Amino acid sequence: MKIAVFSTKPYDRQFLDRANQGYGYELTYFEPRLNRATVPLANGYEVVCCFVNDELDEAVLAAIAAQGTQLIGLRCAGFNQVDIAAAKRLGLTVARVPDYSPYAVAEHTVGLILALNRKIHRAYARVRENNFDLEGMLGFDLHGCTVGIVGTGKIGALVGQILHGFGCRLMAYDVRPNPDCEALGVTYTDLPTLLKTANILTLHCPLTPQTHHLIDAEAVEQMPAGVMLINTSRGALIDTEAIINGLKTHKIGYLGLDVYEQESDLFFENLSERVIQDDVFQRLLTFPNVLITGHQAFFTRNALEQIAKTTLANIDAVYQGTLPAQNQVA
Ligand code: NAD
Repeated sequence: MKIAVFSTKPYDRQFLDRANQGYGYELTYFEPRLNRATVPLANGYEVVCCFVNDELDEAVLAAIAAQGTQLIGLRCAGFNQVDIAAAKRLGLTVARVPDYSPYAVAEHTVGLILALNRKIHRAYARVRENNFDLEGMLGFDLHGCTVGIVGTGKIGALVGQILHGFGCRLMAYDVRPNPDCEALGVTYTDLPTLLKTANILTLHCPLTPQTHHLIDAEAVEQMPAGVMLINTSRGALIDTEAIINGLKTHKIGYLGLDVYEQESDLFFENLSERVIQDDVFQRLLTFPNVLITGHQAFFTRNALEQIAKTTLANIDAVYQGTLPAQNQVA
């Protein structure tokens, strides 16, 4: 079986090659993202394997279907980059890896909270300059803080568990409350109440038409002054311009991002020699109370191992007719 693997880095190859020892698939690695320009590369491959920033819109899906592809194996949990209705119309099967390591993302989320609060990223730079002044380094106790979790699925629930250990007061909003979280003492409420109450708001719901720009100017308006906002889910949950205004007016006291709405033009590449054209992203980087990582929350060896194993197992399962329902999105 021939599989075209897009958006690959050396680390993807390492983990996929190891997982493939049990299958012997013919894997061809392509560095570029799959999009309208690169779609001819997939010609003749039965399976196309993609990641978070590949652009699986209707035109790309129609092209790969016409070129002989039957199956798209996503190496990620989210599938907002795929036009699912078009995939179904074209008879393409789309598989995903629903839960490779929620720990990786939850732990990174808490890492952002701790680093922002205690300014660890700034302390690192300061101490290397022999500057041991504590001015500007003042933090607050997480113990007793009210944390609002939007989306208490696998990752949001783990964030709740970890922060429970810190002694935080946990509140949440989810269209489907999670009984494990309720048992932990998480209080569910509606979104406006959560926005008004939380000192730290962390986003863990998927990107859907309902959650697009969930945090917009109106939402920022409702938050308490000095709130910490964390997004390790998907960039477009946040209206970035509204957040920049919130930072300028000091409404938002801390911002931690692992994802960004226009990240596909930036993330996963070394652009250190380039002039970045995205003025909104560059503005974000000017704030001292903003900490951004480049979509690395998932990036642990445990997660990469599991992603590689499940991606290849999904492909096998599709042809055996045994793909678990939660791994199939079309
Ligand atoms: P999950 O499906 O287990 O949980 C998502 C939760 O969001 C569910 O409880 C669901 O009921 C809730 N939800 C759905 N629509 C909602 C809405 N409109 N309002 C409020 N809640 C809503 O997913 P997960 O594994 O916890 O992952 C969450 C998200 O994290 C993924 O969708 C993905 O975008 C993101 N993610 C990011 C990374 C990273 O590296 N930064 C890695 C993996 C996943």
